[in-house]
Amino acid sequence: MVKIKKAKRLTQLPPYLFAQLDEAKNELKKKGKDLIDLGIGDPDLPTPSPIITRLYQAAKDPQNHHYPPYEGLLSFRKAISEWYERRFGVKLNPEEEILTLIGSKEGIAHISLALINPGDLALVPDPAYPVYRAGVIFAGGMPFSMPLLEKNHFLPSLEEIDEEVSRRAKVLFINYPNNPTGATATRDFFQKVVDFAREFNIVVCHDLAYSEVFFDECRPCSFLEVKGAKEVGVEFHSLSKTFNMTGWRIGFVVGNKEVIQALREVKTNVDSGVFQAIQEAGIEALKLPEEVSRQIRKVYQRRRDILVEGLRQIGWKINPPKATFYLWVKVPCASIEFARVLLEECGVVVTPGVGFGTYGEGYIRIALTVDEERIREAVRRIKESKFMERENLRRV
Ligand SMILES: *Cc1c(COP(=O)(O)O)cnc(C)c1O
Repeated sequence: MVKIKKAKRLTQLPPYLFAQLDEAKNELKKKGKDLIDLGIGDPDLPTPSPIITRLYQAAKDPQNHHYPPYEGLLSFRKAISEWYERRFGVKLNPEEEILTLIGSKEGIAHISLALINPGDLALVPDPAYPVYRAGVIFAGGMPFSMPLLEKNHFLPSLEEIDEEVSRRAKVLFINYPNNPTGATATRDFFQKVVDFAREFNIVVCHDLAYSEVFFDECRPCSFLEVKGAKEVGVEFHSLSKTFNMTGWRIGFVVGNKEVIQALREVKTNVDSGVFQAIQEAGIEALKLPEEVSRQIRKVYQRRRDILVEGLRQIGWKINPPKATFYLWVKVPCASIEFARVLLEECGVVVTPGVGFGTYGEGYIRIALTVDEERIREAVRRIKESKFMERENLRRV
């Protein structure tokens, strides 16, 4: 028998905290309990049909059955540059400043291998999408947490980062509109990030996965809209959230050509690109009229308004998100405990904030990825259970 000993990098990942919660969920499911899952960061709506039709046609073309070019189809990269110019007014050279990814998660996970040496520091937001931290750890780097606090509108306070730390940092990860907090960033903030990156020679990696999931006509901007941004960093993007394409695995990264070249070098040694027919479907997606994403937004906005209104009526304090399909809600006790009671008494599943980092403790994330009727039902159950009146949930 071989004794299997996992590599240290795996033991260095943050521990998985939800095993017991998952078990409780599975138990209830087995008993036939009807659970309303508001924990899922994956759109429930289907991919728009023109995209599917295009995939179907492209899949029949034998030319698409081969290995694609490493950097992605030039036609896909051209469609990305046209979309970026139309949407953000940002000009990109499709030959050098754009790279196709197998979903943006893949690129985010690999970028640290392209930039970070063992022992290097990377500035990572907390709470955050867990992949920034994992990528840094896999590259042997050391994640340094930037707390995202409510009093700072969930933006990192760059001035408060120790100067020694800033000097040692090689990479900075940011993500606006933000998962999990739903916060958005202004151009002013991005300008501060560019100035900071210049001063300390740091590569900025901005994750713009939720640029098209916004409310009240508050259009999020691209990091690259800010002067000097292309000199300091890149922006990750995805068709997953914009066009309900999470299962298709297609995304891209744009911006600084040296960073893109370095990531390409990593990827040529790891993967062989995205199925060309999917990239063709991606072209179709990026050429769809704005009306398509407007309709998707309308659905989320209605759900958001129903949930916010419903929870407020039963006394919850809610900060409605300006973008993303998440509500980030303060709770009066440990987030896992809150989620467990909500699950057991109401059959409603939410994500405990502590799963996104230490500074996520005291919050839960509620996703708007179920239909209106289920959202109403969730509110009804919470109201009827009166579980907020329980003494053990009042501990702050
Ligand atoms: C969903 C998500 C992504 C990535 O999605 P892909 O499907 O890999 O493109 C990236 N960043 C954040 C913050 C997300 O929530």
